[in-house]
Amino acid sequence: MNNALFQSDIKSLKLLNRGKVRDIYEVDKDLLLIVTTDRLSAFDVVMPTPIPDKGCILTEISNFWFARLEHIVPNHLTGIDPASLVQENESEQVAGRAIVVKKLKPLPIEAIVRGYLAGSGWKEYKAGRSVCGIHLPEGLGEADKLPEPLFTPSTKAETGAHDENISYEEAEKMLGKDLAARVRDTCIALYKEAASYARGQGIIIADTKFEFGQDSQGKLYLIDEALTPDSSRFWPADQYEPGKNPPSFDKQYVRDWLESSGWDKKFPSPELPENVVAKTTEKYRLALKYLTQSHVDKLVSGYVRFRKNNYEKNQDLFERLIKQGQSPRTIVVGCCDSRVDPAIVTDCDPGDLFTIRNVANLVPPFEDSGKFHGTSAALEYGVRNLEVENIIVLGHAHCGGIKSLLDQKDEDEPKHSFISGWMKVASQARNRVLSRMPGKSKDQQARACEQEAILVSLDNLLTFPWILERVASKKLALHGWYFDMEKGELLHYNPISNRFEAFPSD
Ligand SMILES: [Zn+2]
Repeated sequence: MNNALFQSDIKSLKLLNRGKVRDIYEVDKDLLLIVTTDRLSAFDVVMPTPIPDKGCILTEISNFWFARLEHIVPNHLTGIDPASLVQENESEQVAGRAIVVKKLKPLPIEAIVRGYLAGSGWKEYKAGRSVCGIHLPEGLGEADKLPEPLFTPSTKAETGAHDENISYEEAEKMLGKDLAARVRDTCIALYKEAASYARGQGIIIADTKFEFGQDSQGKLYLIDEALTPDSSRFWPADQYEPGKNPPSFDKQYVRDWLESSGWDKKFPSPELPENVVAKTTEKYRLALKYLTQSHVDKLVSGYVRFRKNNYEKNQDLFERLIKQGQSPRTIVVGCCDSRVDPAIVTDCDPGDLFTIRNVANLVPPFEDSGKFHGTSAALEYGVRNLEVENIIVLGHAHCGGIKSLLDQKDEDEPKHSFISGWMKVASQARNRVLSRMPGKSKDQQARACEQEAILVSLDNLLTFPWILERVASKKLALHGWYFDMEKGELLHYNPISNRFEAFPSD
């Protein structure tokens, strides 16, 4: 037996209800205390084996979302410390897993939002090109992202029974037109904001279920739990492939084990083995970590890995780098777009490159007018002090800087005075491309402009006297490279053919 909380037993308050996972107590006529236990239900049956920490993890995830989404809709939380409402010997049962909430009138529907085609939605789409009666375009596959998130309400079933999908018109009949529309719009707004945040944290929220309640004035509140692995389908974004059902962060592990155990899916279920329990806790913990970890925390754990893998295993290199100082042989002028890091694309060791990154890797012409450009200063240092032997201008496909140049945003926003200066440098490339290929598609023009901008930079490099002199005496070579992100292919400019040509890839 693990030290999980299968069932709470708070004698100082009146027990109102035990749900599949939550025990609900009455505090007074306005407040409830909800304890999220470590129970887990699968196939609508509560497992006899609890999952340690699950209740605390779910509570933390819900509270995280309640706070984050409060600007869209208020929630049932009161901020009252649960420990202040129970006896001292009961405080362990509420620590980290209980909340004190407003007593509200729950709406009689479950408000489901689907952003992807999964589970029953996918089954229904396969059979008739619709989900919960909403017609969808042809040609969608399993786990595909839907053109727009769908609001698909269902009824609330008693414990043991299955919820039933209802049409939006039926939801209108149950709630009234106004309230149904408010619930739908709120759900879609909640889903969109949560899904976009989670995507940045490495989680796809395929679908989720919200519950709402109203106070005596009819004000709408988000209640129950919010966007947990129990109420949602979470997919790890790095394992997502359209057309395949991705592994999920929820109780799939338990479900798979139950399927293989030969259990008939009727109460009672078998006890879960220790490794299944441990693995499941781990999955819930991982979901919490993914969701709540700040980006800076992620970078810090990256640093810890770097230190272990690079520094500790390769201390000689770092000692050498310190002793010899900086002696790169090549300057790379690259775009600040993080997808095209020159050191990653060329698999370089620390110290190999002197990297200058700016908007769309542009080199301005030599400035003798007292104007100043950081790229020029870095070039001067690299060429005159470090005496590099090569300068590579590294352009790339799908460059945002070049795209905005083609969209001619330079005249739109005079407040961007630094970007306007940059635009002036790049506008030669744009003008050449637009006059050479006026009727071509945006994509073709962008690609041509990305490559043309490299040539403009190569020309501008030669306007710096100390570069020209070194190039003439063959101490310095200039190169134009183009990284095609789609093919992962590196091209180089060949001045004889006047074309960008591929390097051999093996
Ligand atoms: Zn770029």
